[in-house]
Amino acid sequence: MKRKKVSKPRPRTPRQQAWANSARFRSMGRAMMKRFNNLRRSGPKCGAHTKINGHPCQNPAMANGRCRVHGGATPKGDGWHKPVWPDANAANWNAKLARKLTDLERAAKKRARRLRSMTPEQRADHAAWQRSHKPGSTKAREAAKAYRQQEADMAATLRRVREQPMSEESRAIAARIAEIEAENAVLAARLAELDAPNPQPSDDMGIFG
Ligand SMILES: [Zn+2]
Repeated sequence: MKRKKVSKPRPRTPRQQAWANSARFRSMGRAMMKRFNNLRRSGPKCGAHTKINGHPCQNPAMANGRCRVHGGATPKGDGWHKPVWPDANAANWNAKLARKLTDLERAAKKRARRLRSMTPEQRADHAAWQRSHKPGSTKAREAAKAYRQQEADMAATLRRVREQPMSEESRAIAARIAEIEAENAVLAARLAELDAPNPQPSDDMGIFG
């Protein structure tokens, strides 16, 4: 098995080691952790559904109600699910763009690997998700979602009506209809007999002979 090369971090210089051990650095770290913990305890919390256990995430939330992991840089509205390109006026625009392209390429490769390893059922689920989560504006996506929901509701209603057992009354009516149709058939046969032109006289015509 090929192993990924992991480069070891460079050892600290004595000067860096002294700074890391200093009282000032430690008090800075303590203050930061205190702030983080206070925020964690009392501040607004991220309510995103976590994949690991399905509970809300509970990390400190940003202004948008989500933590950095769950509601960070991904744009909403018209920009949802679309790549965010670097600002054209940024000083390091070239480097940012190159990094963005590399990231997108890496993500595409990862996606392709994931798709290849899927079972047909997983693949179908994935395709369904992709169909129902198209990029674009919130309005357009919500309209499409409402339409899909309506269609599903209609299909469910039709299914229910078709599967519903007949009521006692309907069954009685259906039976009566069948009876009447049978009587009709008998009468129609009798009429056809009577209308038949010139019935051949035969020996067993009784008193009509
Ligand atoms: Zn979160």
